[in-house]
Amino acid sequence: MRVIDADALLESMRPKGLEDEAWTECTTYKMIQAAPTIEPPKEIWRWLSVPLGGGQSQLICQKCYYETKRYANMRYNYCPNCGVKLINGKDV
Ligand SMILES: [Zn+2]
Repeated sequence: MRVIDADALLESMRPKGLEDEAWTECTTYKMIQAAPTIEPPKEIWRWLSVPLGGGQSQLICQKCYYETKRYANMRYNYCPNCGVKLINGKDV
């Protein structure tokens, strides 16, 4: 499966100078408009756990590398800096 931009495809397939009314009657236009749509896959980001010693660790956002200034047991569900949803960290 490949996610594409249907609006950009419509624009690239449209013959130059064709009026809107004629374009929307074309088979190409109708086929693109009738294509099934899906939700684009969501990115999954994690907290990266960096050991600080003494059994403590600090968490860093995998997307923007924001350091939480908090320890692993005080984890946010979203990055306070970039706002992405974050799931359980893994050791680095
Ligand atoms: Zn972030």
